[in-house]
Amino acid sequence: MSDERISDDARSDPVLYVHWCEQPGCEKWGSFGFAVGRSEPKWFCYEHRPEWKSNHAARPQH
Ligand SMILES: [Zn+2]
Repeated sequence: MSDERISDDARSDPVLYVHWCEQPGCEKWGSFGFAVGRSEPKWFCYEHRPEWKSNHAARPQH
């Protein structure tokens, strides 16, 4: 009885979508996703993540 279910090719990786840092040359894992509007989210690592905090928002409030 060879009922062994050897699932070699069934390695279900928990991460389906691999997203690395979008910074050219950076090979780090983009753990920070930034979606602007309806565009697809861009992923950056900790070092290259954009300054999301708008503490110094230079927007003319007019
Ligand atoms: Zn990076």
